[in-house]
Amino acid sequence: MQPLVDRYGRVATDLRVSLTDRCNLRCSYCMPAEGLDWLPGEDQLTDDEVVRLITVAVERLGVREVRFTGGEPLVRRGLVDIVRRVRALDPEVELSITSNGIGLARMAGALAEAGLDRVNVSLDTVRSEVFQEITRRDRFTDVVEGLAAAEEAGLRPIKVNGVLLRGVNDDQAPELLRWCLERGYQLRFIEQMPLDAQHGWSRDTMVTADEIFAQLDREFALTPATEPRGSAPAELFLVDGGPATVGVIASVTRPFCGDCDRVRLTADGQVRNCLFAREESDLRGALRAGASDAELAERWLVAMAGKAAGHGIDDPTFLQPDRPMSAIGG
Ligand code: SAM
Ligand code: SF4
Repeated sequence: MQPLVDRYGRVATDLRVSLTDRCNLRCSYCMPAEGLDWLPGEDQLTDDEVVRLITVAVERLGVREVRFTGGEPLVRRGLVDIVRRVRALDPEVELSITSNGIGLARMAGALAEAGLDRVNVSLDTVRSEVFQEITRRDRFTDVVEGLAAAEEAGLRPIKVNGVLLRGVNDDQAPELLRWCLERGYQLRFIEQMPLDAQHGWSRDTMVTADEIFAQLDREFALTPATEPRGSAPAELFLVDGGPATVGVIASVTRPFCGDCDRVRLTADGQVRNCLFAREESDLRGALRAGASDAELAERWLVAMAGKAAGHGIDDPTFLQPDRPMSAIGG
């Protein structure tokens, strides 16, 4: 086994796999309302190819956590089967998905039975009309039902990811937290990042972690959680003395690149060593040309070695990646 180590000594053990760039929502901070081309079907990895690459990562490269994302992973037809096959790998990995929750009501049981450990569900507001404004779809109730089904199926702890947008839901942090606390979901706020397809992000208008803390402080007593943060991106706080917690992922204003342990595989089989990387390494081409597992692992090691020290969002020369979050895999 050779770990995925970069030239700064960081070791990637957490693999994010995008299973599709397609989605049934159109969140304004992620996708344009219309007009985003999907990957052609033949470019997308097949179920067998996805499982083969994950197997290489787990058996040869020390990956210990696999998270399926997208686009919306629940729209990938083979998802339950992929989960079952990855669950069977040795050594065993921690297995989760990040989802918008639509379709979970139907699929949570099958996913749990196939061996999924946990879900993260994205929900930015608990007001149905604001949900529709952000996602451009009227599906709030589906998400609420999906969350309840995940709980019922034992996919715990259930984490909720929330993004605050200026002038849309920027005043709703306490209300979202209260809603999650009432249901036992662990809420984490994510600072909006420059990863939208339409390049509409602005540092001047984004809602910062400081602003989120200021809002929460008015209604809750937050104390830093005692456990060390390690490579986890969320800064965790006990709410009103605990045990409930809230997290803030301040990717922009308090970057945690120095502790990053992630690596990404896109739905078309490209390794990305960072969300913000400007380059990708093609594993699909090698795989389809008949590369052995050892050769695929070697390519993956080379791709990781070149990981940059940080995302450089504050650097004047920063350039947003060519592909949006929905194609990279959030
Ligand atoms: N469709 C699934 C979902 O929404 O959870 C998985 C993919 S989505 C790209 C993964 C996560 O990225 C979501 O929690 C979403 O809120 C977040 N996200 C998307 N665009 C973002 C952006 N520009 N800044 C910060 N987070 C973003
Ligand atoms: Fe779809 Fe997730 Fe992007 Fe929203 S954030 S458009 S749910 S991929």
